[in-house]
Amino acid sequence: MTEESKTTCRACGTAILVRTADATGGYCRSGKCAAEREAKKRAECQRAIIEERVKKGALKLCPLCGNLICSSRLAKHMEGKCEKLPRPHPYATTFPHIPIPEWLVRLASATTLPPLIPLKDVLSDSCFYPSSGLDSSPVLLANGCVHSFVYVDYGTSRDDFNRTMLFPGFSPYRPILSRNVERHEIVPDDWIPQPPRRFDNPGFDGRQRLMEAQSRCLPFGHWSIWQRREKRDERVGPRLFSFLFLGGEALSSFQGLYSRNEMTPKILAIIQPGHACGDNWTNFNDPDAPLWEAISHGAELPEFLLIGSYGGRSISVDCPFAGYTFIKKTWTYEDRTERVIGIYNRNL
Ligand SMILES: [Zn+2]
Ligand SMILES: [Zn+2]
Repeated sequence: MTEESKTTCRACGTAILVRTADATGGYCRSGKCAAEREAKKRAECQRAIIEERVKKGALKLCPLCGNLICSSRLAKHMEGKCEKLPRPHPYATTFPHIPIPEWLVRLASATTLPPLIPLKDVLSDSCFYPSSGLDSSPVLLANGCVHSFVYVDYGTSRDDFNRTMLFPGFSPYRPILSRNVERHEIVPDDWIPQPPRRFDNPGFDGRQRLMEAQSRCLPFGHWSIWQRREKRDERVGPRLFSFLFLGGEALSSFQGLYSRNEMTPKILAIIQPGHACGDNWTNFNDPDAPLWEAISHGAELPEFLLIGSYGGRSISVDCPFAGYTFIKKTWTYEDRTERVIGIYNRNL
Protein backbone atom coordinates (compact mmCIF):
# COMPACT_ATOMS: atom_id res chain seq x y z
CA MET A 1 0.00 0.00 0.00
CA THR A 2 1.44 3.37 -0.99
CA GLU A 3 1.34 6.07 1.56
CA GLU A 4 -1.15 8.79 0.65
CA SER A 5 0.55 12.04 -0.33
CA LYS A 6 0.48 14.86 2.22
CA THR A 7 0.47 18.61 2.31
CA THR A 8 0.15 21.19 5.13
CA CYS A 9 -2.87 23.08 6.49
CA ARG A 10 -2.99 26.67 5.21
CA ALA A 11 -3.83 27.99 8.64
CA CYS A 12 -1.88 26.00 11.22
CA GLY A 13 0.74 24.22 9.14
CA THR A 14 -0.01 20.69 10.36
CA ALA A 15 0.61 17.88 7.88
CA ILE A 16 -2.70 16.84 6.30
CA LEU A 17 -3.73 14.48 3.54
CA VAL A 18 -4.06 15.98 0.08
CA ARG A 19 -7.51 14.42 0.08
CA THR A 20 -8.45 16.46 3.13
CA ALA A 21 -6.99 19.60 1.63
CA ASP A 22 -8.99 19.08 -1.53
CA ALA A 23 -12.18 18.72 0.48
CA THR A 24 -11.61 21.74 2.76
CA GLY A 25 -9.83 24.13 0.47
CA GLY A 26 -6.46 23.53 2.11
CA TYR A 27 -7.29 23.23 5.80
CA CYS A 28 -7.02 20.57 8.47
CA ARG A 29 -10.16 19.45 10.23
CA SER A 30 -9.47 21.12 13.60
CA GLY A 31 -12.23 23.37 14.92
CA LYS A 32 -9.99 26.42 14.96
CA CYS A 33 -8.95 26.08 11.35
CA ALA A 34 -12.50 25.29 10.29
CA ALA A 35 -13.63 28.56 11.88
CA GLU A 36 -10.90 30.45 10.05
CA ARG A 37 -11.95 28.82 6.83
CA GLU A 38 -15.55 29.87 7.40
CA ALA A 39 -14.55 33.45 8.21
CA LYS A 40 -12.51 33.71 5.03
CA LYS A 41 -15.36 32.35 3.00
CA ARG A 42 -17.80 34.83 4.54
CA ALA A 43 -15.42 37.75 3.91
CA GLU A 44 -15.02 36.77 0.29
CA CYS A 45 -18.76 36.49 -0.10
CA GLN A 46 -19.22 39.90 1.54
CA ARG A 47 -16.62 41.43 -0.76
CA ALA A 48 -18.41 40.04 -3.79
CA ILE A 49 -21.73 41.49 -2.62
CA ILE A 50 -20.17 44.91 -2.02
CA GLU A 51 -18.43 44.88 -5.38
CA GLU A 52 -21.72 44.11 -6.99
CA ARG A 53 -23.48 46.96 -5.14
CA VAL A 54 -20.73 49.41 -6.08
CA LYS A 55 -21.02 48.34 -9.69
CA LYS A 56 -24.75 48.94 -9.60
CA GLY A 57 -24.32 52.34 -7.89
CA ALA A 58 -26.10 51.38 -4.68
CA LEU A 59 -22.93 52.14 -2.70
CA LYS A 60 -20.71 55.15 -3.22
CA LEU A 61 -17.41 56.35 -1.80
CA CYS A 62 -17.71 59.32 0.53
CA PRO A 63 -15.31 61.90 -0.92
CA LEU A 64 -14.51 63.13 2.60
CA CYS A 65 -13.77 59.98 4.57
CA GLY A 66 -13.40 57.40 1.81
CA ASN A 67 -15.89 55.00 3.35
CA LEU A 68 -18.53 53.25 1.23
CA ILE A 69 -21.92 54.71 2.01
CA CYS A 70 -25.37 53.75 0.81
CA SER A 71 -26.03 56.10 -2.12
CA SER A 72 -29.39 57.18 -0.78
CA ARG A 73 -27.78 58.19 2.50
CA LEU A 74 -24.59 59.78 1.17
CA ALA A 75 -25.85 63.36 1.21
CA LYS A 76 -27.03 63.02 4.80
CA HIS A 77 -23.78 61.34 5.81
CA MET A 78 -21.74 64.19 4.35
CA GLU A 79 -23.79 66.73 6.23
CA GLY A 80 -23.90 65.03 9.57
CA LYS A 81 -22.31 61.71 10.30
CA CYS A 82 -19.10 61.68 8.32
CA GLU A 83 -16.17 61.38 10.70
CA LYS A 84 -14.15 63.80 8.58
CA LEU A 85 -16.66 66.61 9.01
CA PRO A 86 -15.37 69.46 11.14
CA ARG A 87 -16.96 69.03 14.57
CA PRO A 88 -18.16 72.01 16.53
CA HIS A 89 -16.66 72.78 19.92
CA PRO A 90 -18.72 70.97 22.58
CA TYR A 91 -19.31 74.20 24.52
CA ALA A 92 -19.90 76.48 21.54
CA THR A 93 -23.59 76.76 22.33
CA THR A 94 -23.00 77.42 26.04
CA PHE A 95 -20.35 80.05 25.30
CA PRO A 96 -21.24 81.46 21.86
CA HIS A 97 -18.11 81.75 19.76
CA ILE A 98 -16.94 84.96 18.14
CA PRO A 99 -14.36 85.30 15.33
CA ILE A 100 -10.68 85.48 16.24
CA PRO A 101 -10.00 89.21 16.72
CA GLU A 102 -7.95 90.96 14.10
CA TRP A 103 -5.21 92.04 16.59
CA LEU A 104 -4.55 88.41 17.44
CA VAL A 105 -4.35 87.30 13.80
CA ARG A 106 -1.94 90.15 13.16
CA LEU A 107 0.24 89.26 16.16
CA ALA A 108 0.35 85.60 15.20
CA SER A 109 1.69 86.39 11.75
CA ALA A 110 4.62 88.41 13.15
CA THR A 111 7.97 86.95 14.11
CA THR A 112 8.18 88.55 17.55
CA LEU A 113 5.77 90.03 20.04
CA PRO A 114 5.65 93.84 20.19
CA PRO A 115 7.81 95.51 22.86
CA LEU A 116 4.72 96.74 24.72
CA ILE A 117 1.83 94.37 25.34
CA PRO A 118 -1.35 95.79 23.74
CA LEU A 119 -3.21 95.68 27.03
CA LYS A 120 -6.58 96.86 25.80
CA ASP A 121 -6.66 94.22 23.10
CA VAL A 122 -5.59 91.51 25.51
CA LEU A 123 -8.17 92.58 28.11
CA SER A 124 -11.16 93.09 25.83
CA ASP A 125 -13.34 89.99 25.58
CA SER A 126 -10.98 88.17 27.91
CA CYS A 127 -11.30 85.52 30.57
CA PHE A 128 -9.87 86.59 33.92
CA TYR A 129 -8.83 83.79 36.23
CA PRO A 130 -7.54 84.88 39.63
CA SER A 131 -5.85 82.28 41.84
CA SER A 132 -5.61 80.18 38.72
CA GLY A 133 -2.75 77.87 39.45
CA LEU A 134 -2.17 76.15 36.13
CA ASP A 135 -5.74 74.93 35.70
CA SER A 136 -6.67 74.96 32.02
CA SER A 137 -10.42 74.46 32.55
CA PRO A 138 -11.44 77.90 31.20
CA VAL A 139 -9.42 77.25 28.04
CA LEU A 140 -11.08 73.86 27.63
CA LEU A 141 -14.56 75.29 28.08
CA ALA A 142 -14.59 78.85 26.83
CA ASN A 143 -11.88 79.12 24.19
CA GLY A 144 -13.64 80.71 21.22
CA CYS A 145 -16.05 82.76 23.30
CA VAL A 146 -12.94 84.64 24.37
CA HIS A 147 -9.58 84.54 22.63
CA SER A 148 -7.53 85.92 25.46
CA PHE A 149 -6.92 84.35 28.86
CA VAL A 150 -5.53 86.33 31.77
CA TYR A 151 -4.35 84.17 34.65
CA VAL A 152 -3.15 85.54 37.95
CA ASP A 153 -1.70 83.53 40.77
CA TYR A 154 0.77 84.40 43.48
CA GLY A 155 1.22 80.76 44.44
CA THR A 156 2.66 79.76 41.07
CA SER A 157 6.38 80.12 40.58
CA ARG A 158 8.02 80.63 37.24
CA ASP A 159 9.18 76.99 37.27
CA ASP A 160 5.66 75.70 37.89
CA PHE A 161 4.41 77.96 35.17
CA ASN A 162 6.63 76.32 32.58
CA ARG A 163 4.62 73.11 32.96
CA THR A 164 1.51 74.85 31.64
CA MET A 165 1.64 73.41 28.18
CA LEU A 166 1.17 69.88 29.49
CA PHE A 167 -2.39 70.62 30.57
CA PRO A 168 -5.31 69.52 28.41
CA GLY A 169 -6.60 72.98 27.52
CA PHE A 170 -3.16 73.90 26.24
CA SER A 171 -1.83 70.62 24.88
CA PRO A 172 -3.73 70.75 21.54
CA TYR A 173 -1.87 74.04 21.01
CA ARG A 174 1.73 75.14 20.92
CA PRO A 175 3.11 78.54 21.87
CA ILE A 176 4.33 80.22 18.69
CA LEU A 177 5.41 83.49 20.32
CA SER A 178 6.18 84.23 23.93
CA ARG A 179 8.14 86.56 26.13
CA ASN A 180 8.33 87.89 29.65
CA VAL A 181 6.25 90.94 30.48
CA GLU A 182 7.65 93.71 32.64
CA ARG A 183 5.62 95.51 35.27
CA HIS A 184 5.85 98.87 33.47
CA GLU A 185 3.98 97.34 30.51
CA ILE A 186 1.05 96.56 32.77
CA VAL A 187 0.87 99.62 35.01
CA PRO A 188 2.64 103.00 35.12
CA ASP A 189 5.71 103.02 37.38
CA ASP A 190 4.03 105.17 40.01
CA TRP A 191 0.84 103.11 40.15
CA ILE A 192 0.04 101.44 43.45
CA PRO A 193 -2.88 99.10 44.13
CA GLN A 194 -5.66 100.26 46.35
CA PRO A 195 -5.50 98.31 49.60
CA PRO A 196 -8.75 96.50 50.34
CA ARG A 197 -11.19 98.65 52.28
CA ARG A 198 -11.96 95.76 54.52
CA PHE A 199 -10.77 92.23 55.08
CA ASP A 200 -12.92 89.15 55.49
CA ASN A 201 -14.49 88.42 58.86
CA PRO A 202 -12.17 88.95 61.83
CA GLY A 203 -10.46 85.81 63.05
CA PHE A 204 -9.61 84.77 59.51
CA ASP A 205 -6.59 87.06 59.49
CA GLY A 206 -6.69 87.98 55.82
CA ARG A 207 -4.32 90.91 56.22
CA GLN A 208 -1.62 88.65 57.67
CA ARG A 209 -2.16 86.03 54.93
CA LEU A 210 -1.98 88.67 52.24
CA MET A 211 1.27 90.07 53.57
CA GLU A 212 2.84 86.66 53.97
CA ALA A 213 1.88 85.52 50.50
CA GLN A 214 3.09 88.74 48.94
CA SER A 215 6.44 88.49 50.66
CA ARG A 216 6.84 84.94 49.33
CA CYS A 217 5.83 85.80 45.78
CA LEU A 218 8.41 86.81 43.20
CA PRO A 219 6.22 88.70 40.73
CA PHE A 220 6.65 87.84 37.09
CA GLY A 221 4.68 88.18 33.91
CA HIS A 222 4.61 86.08 30.80
CA TRP A 223 2.69 86.54 27.59
CA SER A 224 2.30 84.05 24.79
CA ILE A 225 0.35 83.39 21.60
CA TRP A 226 -0.80 79.81 21.11
CA GLN A 227 -1.57 78.17 17.80
CA ARG A 228 -3.61 75.02 17.38
CA ARG A 229 -1.66 71.95 16.35
CA GLU A 230 -2.21 70.89 12.77
CA LYS A 231 -4.09 67.68 13.45
CA ARG A 232 -6.61 69.30 15.80
CA ASP A 233 -9.80 71.04 14.76
CA GLU A 234 -12.50 73.37 16.07
CA ARG A 235 -13.47 70.75 18.60
CA VAL A 236 -10.62 71.90 20.83
CA GLY A 237 -11.11 75.56 20.01
CA PRO A 238 -10.23 78.16 17.41
CA ARG A 239 -6.84 78.43 15.75
CA LEU A 240 -5.29 81.00 18.11
CA PHE A 241 -5.45 82.37 21.61
CA SER A 242 -3.49 84.81 23.72
CA PHE A 243 -2.33 83.90 27.21
CA LEU A 244 -1.13 86.37 29.81
CA PHE A 245 0.08 84.93 33.09
CA LEU A 246 0.91 87.16 36.03
CA GLY A 247 2.58 85.68 39.07
CA GLY A 248 1.05 88.21 41.41
CA GLU A 249 -1.81 89.01 43.72
CA ALA A 250 -5.34 88.79 42.30
CA LEU A 251 -7.00 91.93 43.64
CA SER A 252 -4.17 94.30 42.80
CA SER A 253 -3.78 92.64 39.39
CA PHE A 254 -7.48 93.13 38.70
CA GLN A 255 -7.18 96.78 39.71
CA GLY A 256 -4.05 97.35 37.64
CA LEU A 257 -5.41 95.60 34.58
CA TYR A 258 -9.18 95.96 34.37
CA SER A 259 -10.23 98.68 36.85
CA ARG A 260 -7.49 101.09 35.79
CA ASN A 261 -8.46 100.68 32.12
CA GLU A 262 -12.19 100.72 32.89
CA MET A 263 -12.59 97.29 31.34
CA THR A 264 -14.49 94.18 32.32
CA PRO A 265 -13.50 90.59 31.66
CA LYS A 266 -16.08 88.81 29.55
CA ILE A 267 -15.63 85.68 31.65
CA LEU A 268 -14.55 85.44 35.27
CA ALA A 269 -13.32 82.08 36.55
CA ILE A 270 -13.30 81.35 40.26
CA ILE A 271 -12.27 77.73 40.56
CA GLN A 272 -10.83 76.45 43.81
CA PRO A 273 -9.44 79.83 44.81
CA GLY A 274 -7.91 78.29 47.92
CA HIS A 275 -9.66 80.34 50.55
CA ALA A 276 -10.23 77.83 53.30
CA CYS A 277 -7.33 75.41 52.88
CA GLY A 278 -5.15 77.16 50.33
CA ASP A 279 -3.26 80.31 51.11
CA ASN A 280 -5.70 82.84 49.75
CA TRP A 281 -6.22 85.87 51.93
CA THR A 282 -9.80 86.56 50.96
CA ASN A 283 -12.82 84.60 49.79
CA PHE A 284 -13.39 85.22 46.07
CA ASN A 285 -16.84 83.62 46.34
CA ASP A 286 -18.02 86.12 48.92
CA PRO A 287 -19.95 88.96 47.24
CA ASP A 288 -18.98 91.28 50.09
CA ALA A 289 -15.26 90.51 49.97
CA PRO A 290 -12.74 92.75 48.17
CA LEU A 291 -12.44 90.91 44.84
CA TRP A 292 -16.11 90.97 43.95
CA GLU A 293 -16.37 94.49 45.34
CA ALA A 294 -13.76 95.58 42.78
CA ILE A 295 -15.40 93.62 39.97
CA SER A 296 -18.90 94.84 40.69
CA HIS A 297 -17.69 98.45 40.67
CA GLY A 298 -16.72 98.10 37.02
CA ALA A 299 -18.79 99.58 34.21
CA GLU A 300 -20.51 96.24 33.70
CA LEU A 301 -20.43 92.74 35.09
CA PRO A 302 -18.69 89.80 33.41
CA GLU A 303 -21.01 88.06 30.97
CA PHE A 304 -20.19 84.59 32.27
CA LEU A 305 -18.96 83.18 35.55
CA LEU A 306 -17.22 79.85 35.97
CA ILE A 307 -17.45 78.92 39.62
CA GLY A 308 -16.07 75.62 40.76
CA SER A 309 -13.92 73.52 42.96
CA TYR A 310 -11.61 70.54 42.77
CA GLY A 311 -12.89 67.14 43.70
CA GLY A 312 -16.56 66.59 42.99
CA ARG A 313 -18.28 68.94 45.38
CA SER A 314 -21.77 69.92 44.36
CA ILE A 315 -22.62 73.09 42.54
CA SER A 316 -25.27 75.50 43.68
CA VAL A 317 -27.83 76.66 41.16
CA ASP A 318 -27.92 79.86 43.18
CA CYS A 319 -25.02 81.98 42.05
CA PRO A 320 -23.20 83.57 45.00
CA PHE A 321 -23.35 86.85 43.05
CA ALA A 322 -26.56 88.70 42.32
CA GLY A 323 -27.60 89.16 38.69
CA TYR A 324 -26.63 85.73 37.37
CA THR A 325 -28.53 82.67 36.24
CA PHE A 326 -27.21 79.14 36.45
CA ILE A 327 -26.84 77.55 33.00
CA LYS A 328 -25.16 74.22 33.57
CA LYS A 329 -22.82 72.12 35.62
CA THR A 330 -19.76 70.58 34.05
CA TRP A 331 -16.56 68.72 34.85
CA THR A 332 -13.01 68.94 33.67
CA TYR A 333 -10.19 66.60 34.55
CA GLU A 334 -6.50 67.30 34.65
CA ASP A 335 -3.42 66.65 36.73
CA ARG A 336 -5.27 63.70 38.32
CA THR A 337 -7.97 65.97 39.75
CA GLU A 338 -11.57 66.46 38.75
CA ARG A 339 -13.02 69.95 38.80
CA VAL A 340 -16.72 70.49 39.10
CA ILE A 341 -17.72 73.80 37.60
CA GLY A 342 -20.96 75.75 37.50
CA ILE A 343 -21.54 78.05 34.54
CA TYR A 344 -23.57 81.19 35.16
CA ASN A 345 -24.79 83.78 32.70
CA ARG A 346 -25.39 87.47 33.47
CA ASN A 347 -29.06 88.31 33.47
CA LEU A 348 -30.17 90.48 30.60
ZN1 LIG B 1 -5.11 23.48 10.55
ZN1 LIG C 1 -17.65 60.34 5.01
